[in-house]
Amino acid sequence: LRVREFIMKDLYSFDADEAALEKSYERMAQAYRNIYARLGLPALMVEADSGAIGGKASHEFMVITGNGEDEVIYCPHCDYAANAERAQSAKAAATNGAGTELPLAEIATPGCHTIEEVAEFVGVPASQTLKAVFYSAAGEFVFAVIRGDLEVNETKLRNALKGTELRLATEDEVTGAGMVAGFASPVGLVGIRVIADDSVTLGSNFIVGANKAGFHLMNANYPRDFQADLIADIALARPGHGCPRCGKELCSARGI
Ligand SMILES: [Zn+2]
Repeated sequence: LRVREFIMKDLYSFDADEAALEKSYERMAQAYRNIYARLGLPALMVEADSGAIGGKASHEFMVITGNGEDEVIYCPHCDYAANAERAQSAKAAATNGAGTELPLAEIATPGCHTIEEVAEFVGVPASQTLKAVFYSAAGEFVFAVIRGDLEVNETKLRNALKGTELRLATEDEVTGAGMVAGFASPVGLVGIRVIADDSVTLGSNFIVGANKAGFHLMNANYPRDFQADLIADIALARPGHGCPRCGKELCSARGI
């Protein structure tokens, strides 16, 4: 439903300070709301990713419809709504919370390549594991680490990397960086850029790969056992997660 060509409209305000800018922004938003109301379109103003243009705040208007190409994450209990690319969610602390840090220990996990397999084999929820996802960011190998119950949001990761070109690393690149796929570990990395989701700080004694086929490590703790070049929110907000404003459950809808 996205058209190939469209008319771009720019509008600038010249304000003396931030408070006046907020006022101008709100007046413009209201003008758009009025236009959609007169057109009879039930449009929702949602927080959006600023993309290549940059800037700190951006909104877009979306019409909720089943065949929309975009996903909106919204809260039915308050007015929070955001494009899925940008949406945040309140991350629950892992069940093991901020427990006493136990000593790192190796555990045999034969044939456990996925988070689900490892969690089931060890008998812990996915939120007690850490997942590794590999990217190539403008040619540089990047190790993204996130709690096992969450997924990486590539738009957020790209923004955390200052908008650099980003794609999943190929199998050759993963092996070339010395990683054992399925058993890769943030522990003991040297010379590799690590971006960690802030969820790694919401728990303790995680299960992580041992970077050795058939083995994982128990009781990995940040920052005791591994470090990150950057900690940021790089997680995908999903329906069922907590609303970042009111904490109640988020929902999802398609929109144009
Ligand atoms: Zn809410």
